[in-house]
Amino acid sequence: MMKLTSILSVASYIATASAALGKTTWLPELGPSLNPGLGEKLPFKASTGNNPWTTTIPQVCQDTAISNKCKPSEMEVFGVTYPDCAKPWVMCRCSKSPMAQQTIRDVFGEVPVHLRSTVRHVMAFPTPDGKGCHAYASSGDIVFFGDCANKTAPSVFLHESAHTRDKNNYSKNTILPAVNSDTCVPDNYANTNEVEDFAQLMVVHTHKLVTGSSPKPTDCMSHQMDIMARDWSASTLWPATCDLSVKPPNSPSVNKTDPKNVARWASEGSAPTPPEGVQLEDFGVVV
Ligand SMILES: [Zn+2]
Repeated sequence: MMKLTSILSVASYIATASAALGKTTWLPELGPSLNPGLGEKLPFKASTGNNPWTTTIPQVCQDTAISNKCKPSEMEVFGVTYPDCAKPWVMCRCSKSPMAQQTIRDVFGEVPVHLRSTVRHVMAFPTPDGKGCHAYASSGDIVFFGDCANKTAPSVFLHESAHTRDKNNYSKNTILPAVNSDTCVPDNYANTNEVEDFAQLMVVHTHKLVTGSSPKPTDCMSHQMDIMARDWSASTLWPATCDLSVKPPNSPSVNKTDPKNVARWASEGSAPTPPEGVQLEDFGVVV
């Protein structure tokens, strides 16, 4: 019954959030214009810890690996510490991912600590054809397929982290009314629905905060930008430390080589596969 309830609630969320916004666009696509400034100016926290998990893996990483045909022996699990947070993030990388461990650690260290606080696990897998970037956010986890970022192109990490903060809630209650007062949204992808609009607004807004400028005036989406400025000031996005009260606890750890799990690993999977009810996002070629 629990499961049915959760499926119904996801389905009803999709029904309310799937309406295209139907606005004009500020830019066709954000990444090419905003990534250079973000890469140069976002405050960067270098990770300091490297704590490899050799025998265990968070349950959600294992389930995601099984769904995406990455073997237990190919799953790298590691705890990553940043100087602004007392607790590490446990990340899971398939060794076939084109994003190196160091890249994932570095780009996540560019995400404002307030948004990082709401992320549970970061995962990285390859794409079947070796091209482009797909991603999704679910239950506080952000999952990447393919080459989604590097230190000078952090926009997709910012976008997915914004989803974990939003929880499909802020965007609906606060952003959508502002959209209705504006003529444009940040880009074509933001037009998908208010959830994507908020994630892209976070990219535009943080770019404006850290560079002090925008590539063009934002008048056509001034209500949205005013709300972003009101609710996501620099002191909100970059407090001195992470907020441990909102940092999700790790998914329970399980044994990588449990025969039951190895059998599942061998029999299931086709990549990339998000959990039921979660939309896989196509970001095309990012880097
Ligand atoms: Zn998104």
